[in-house]
Amino acid sequence: MNKLIYLDNAATTKPAPEVVQEMMPYLGENFGNPSAFYSFAGKAAQAVDVARKSIADTIGAKTEEIYFTAGGSESDNWALVATAEAMENKGKHIITSTIEHHAILHTCDYLKKRGFEITYVGVDEDGVVKLDELKAAIRPDTILISIMAANNEIGTIQPLKEIGAIAKENKILFHTDAVQAFGHIPLSVDEMNIDLLSASGHKIHGPKGVGILYIRRGVKIGAFMHGGAQERRRRAGTHNVPGIVGMGKAAGLAVRDMAQVSEKVSSLRDYLIEKVMAEIPYTKLNGHKTNRLPNNANFSFSFIEGESLLIMLDQAGICGSSGSACTSGSLDPSHVLMAIGLPHEIAHGSLRLSLSEENTREELDYVVETLKGIVKRLRDMSPLYEDFVKKQK
Ligand SMILES: *Cc1c(COP(=O)(O)O)cnc(C)c1O
Repeated sequence: MNKLIYLDNAATTKPAPEVVQEMMPYLGENFGNPSAFYSFAGKAAQAVDVARKSIADTIGAKTEEIYFTAGGSESDNWALVATAEAMENKGKHIITSTIEHHAILHTCDYLKKRGFEITYVGVDEDGVVKLDELKAAIRPDTILISIMAANNEIGTIQPLKEIGAIAKENKILFHTDAVQAFGHIPLSVDEMNIDLLSASGHKIHGPKGVGILYIRRGVKIGAFMHGGAQERRRRAGTHNVPGIVGMGKAAGLAVRDMAQVSEKVSSLRDYLIEKVMAEIPYTKLNGHKTNRLPNNANFSFSFIEGESLLIMLDQAGICGSSGSACTSGSLDPSHVLMAIGLPHEIAHGSLRLSLSEENTREELDYVVETLKGIVKRLRDMSPLYEDFVKKQK
């Protein structure tokens, strides 16, 4: 078995060859420290500027509003913790959603211990944040709304423009974790009234360990990493030049090819969804039917365990991801699937397949055939399924 079908692009993506090529000189001969004075380091400094511009253009920002970090998690931590600290004289209330990534949710847990109050706005059955609940949650002491741009598990895209308008109307800062959306769907910080935005290199065919936080000019937020004067004194640490160059290149490619890639990938996604739904009974598609990331499909198969499914898919050379959080040592099903109202037993039988433009229909045919067989085998071993079948007769 040497087949490898990679369908876990929401977890990480394969760096594009152009990205790797662009990075290479900065892993080697152009090793200068961009903060250094002499002209040899100028190449590295220039490369960082080029990357910053390319990333700023992706979201309609100014170059000086882009701050390099070590990834999406750091950007999320920075946005929340440093805003909370900068604004605590105004208030200690933050609004977020029930379906955020753990980089947001666990940072909120940390802030709770530091005396902040968090309101978690719910979502409907498609995973769309309830705007009436969001409006009702706003208080005079609310300092920040943090709602993700698109969900990493079920792919649902949030109404960012509406959320941004609500935040602006109430003079509250708006942060969005756009790690899944950046470079995949159009984003505009001005049209959407976004004050802070997190993005990551490795979700857009760039390198791991590099990300950005967009900070709108004028927003009061302190440093998160203390040390040198890099990044306008807001994020210390010698620049990860190869990583930054790679993310800049990846962002440029993503914008250049967005329309074409999005059309191709969403048509593959729809092909996969239609086939799975047609061929495997007792299956539910999770997430919004149309308003979802081009690359995301998420299914729940009744009467089976997601972990067994993943193991068997792996044996067939297929990389997918389970909705449940077993990898993190917990037996609880995914908080996202619970938030959209799935019963425990259904949420446990979930599978996320996230595509890229490298996938083909032939691969997907093989995946559906394999999946069909595995689901059948697992159901045949399930006492729950046996009961269900008996009742049907
Ligand atoms: C992957 C991801 C992150 C974390 O980004 P890293 O660069 O891996 O730290 C945060 N939020 C969302 C929505 C993600 O998908």
